[in-house]
Amino acid sequence: MIAAERTALLRRIPSLDELLRQNECASLIEHNGHTAVADAARAVLARLREEIAAGHLDEKALQLALDGIPAAIERTLRSALAPLLHLVVNATGVVLHTNLGRAPIAAAALERIQHLGGGYSNLEFDLVAGRRGKRDSHTDHLFALLFEQQLGGAAQKLATIVVNNNAAAVLLALNSLAEGGEAIVSRGELVEIGGSFRIPEVMGKAGAALREVGTTNRTRLSDYEAAINNRTRVLLRVHRSNFHMVGFTEQPALRDLVRLGHKYKVPVIEDLGSGALVDLRQLGITGEPDVAASLRSRVDVVTYSGDKLLGGPQAGILTGKKELIQKIRKNPLFRALRVDKLTYAALEATLAAYIRQDLDSIPALRMMRLSAEEIRTRAEAVISSLRESKSLKLEIIAGESVIGGGAAPAARLRTFLIAAAAEGLSAEELARALRQSQPLPIVARVEEGRVLLDLRTVLPEQDSYVVSRLGTLTANQPNR
Ligand SMILES: *Cc1c(COP(=O)(O)O)cnc(C)c1O
Repeated sequence: MIAAERTALLRRIPSLDELLRQNECASLIEHNGHTAVADAARAVLARLREEIAAGHLDEKALQLALDGIPAAIERTLRSALAPLLHLVVNATGVVLHTNLGRAPIAAAALERIQHLGGGYSNLEFDLVAGRRGKRDSHTDHLFALLFEQQLGGAAQKLATIVVNNNAAAVLLALNSLAEGGEAIVSRGELVEIGGSFRIPEVMGKAGAALREVGTTNRTRLSDYEAAINNRTRVLLRVHRSNFHMVGFTEQPALRDLVRLGHKYKVPVIEDLGSGALVDLRQLGITGEPDVAASLRSRVDVVTYSGDKLLGGPQAGILTGKKELIQKIRKNPLFRALRVDKLTYAALEATLAAYIRQDLDSIPALRMMRLSAEEIRTRAEAVISSLRESKSLKLEIIAGESVIGGGAAPAARLRTFLIAAAAEGLSAEELARALRQSQPLPIVARVEEGRVLLDLRTVLPEQDSYVVSRLGTLTANQPNR
C-alpha cells in the first residue's frame, strides 16, 4: 500500500470529538462517565491508526472496523473495569489455601460487614461517655468470654488485641518487648512461612538481636538457660507450622520453657501461627496446639492468625498477660498495624459463633468436620449427574484432604476424590480448562496424570456448578 492510500484511509477515522458525539457513545458515557469512555475511545482509535499504518486494513476492512468502533469501545471499557479478583471454586481439598484466600468468611460475619461497612459506627466512640473510645474494646470482651469458657478464672488476667496479620503480630510483640535486646530462639524454629516471612528477618526488623540456641533437631532447656544474660528480653517459641520433624529430635515442653523464663523474669512469646480456638483433637487432628493450651501453659503472649484455623478474616491476634498487652498496645507500631472496621465486624461475628459453640457456621471448621462418607455421597451425586457424558471418565477414589495455611502439616483428613479424565485432553489441559471456567474458575489438583476434585472444600451449593462445567467442558471441547 502506498503512502497516499494510507493517508486517505487515516482521514476516514473520526476525531475523538466526533466519535463521542455519536448516539452509541452517549449511552456509554451515561453509564461509565465521560473520562473513562474518552480514554477507551482514544485507545480504540490509536489501535485503528496503527493497523492502517502497518498496512493491515484495506478499504473494506476499514469500513467494518469503523462500524465496530462503539462495540470496541465497550469491550475496552468492560475489560478495563472488570475486577481482577474473582470468586473461585476450591476443589483442591486444601482447606486453608493461602493462594486462594485462606478461610472463607462465615455468613453471619458477612452480614455484619454489610451492615457496618455501609454506615458510620461506634468503632472508636464511647456512646455512653460521648467521647473517643478504643477500637479493640469490641473484640477484647468476646475473647475474654471465650477464654473464660476454656480457662475459667485465669482468663481474667488476659487481654487481646488485633492487628493486620500474624506477621504483624510477631513484629509488634518482638519490637515492643525485645527492641535493643536479645530474643532467644531454638535453631529448630528459625522457620520461613510462605510469602517470605522469616523469623530471623522479622527479628531484625523488630530491632531485636537473634540469639540462636541448640541445633536444628535438638534443643534442650539447658541451652536456653545457658544463653540467658542481662540483654535477654524474651524467649521466643515458634510453631513449626508448615513442616514436621521426625527422628532424633528434642524440644523442651512449653510449660518448662515458661518456667525457665519466669525464673529469670523474661517473658515467653509463642508464635503459634495457626491459632485454633477449639481443641482440634475432636476433629481427629493431633499435633496442632490450640490457643487455650498455650495459655494454660502460661505463655506470656501468644500470636496467631485470624484467617487460618480460626476461620475468620485476615488478622493477627495477640493474647497475653494484661500488663504485656498494655505495653504492646502503647507501641506506635500498633497504630500502623491496626485493622479496619470490616475486620472487627467479621471477627466479632466469628468469635460469637465460637462462644455459642456453633462451629458448623464457620466454613473452614465445617469443611474440616465433614466426614469422608458425606463427601463420598456428594461425589456420587456429581458423577451420576454426568453419567450420560461419553467423553468424560469419572471415578471415585479414596484420598486425603490437607488443612493447609501452615497448620498441622502432618495431619490428613480422609476424603473421597473425583478422578476426572476427558477424552482428547491431557490432565493438565483439563485442569487448565477448569481454571478457565466462567463465571467461576474451578481449581483442582493434578496428580499422576489425573485431575482430582475434592468436594470437601467446594461449597455444597457449588456442586451443581461443578457438574454443569464438567458437562459443557467436555461437550464443547472433544478435541481440546
Ligand atoms: C502463618 C504463620 C505466620 C504468618 O501469619 P500471617 O497471618 O500469614 O501473617 C507466622 N508464623 C507462623 C508460625 C505461621 O504459621
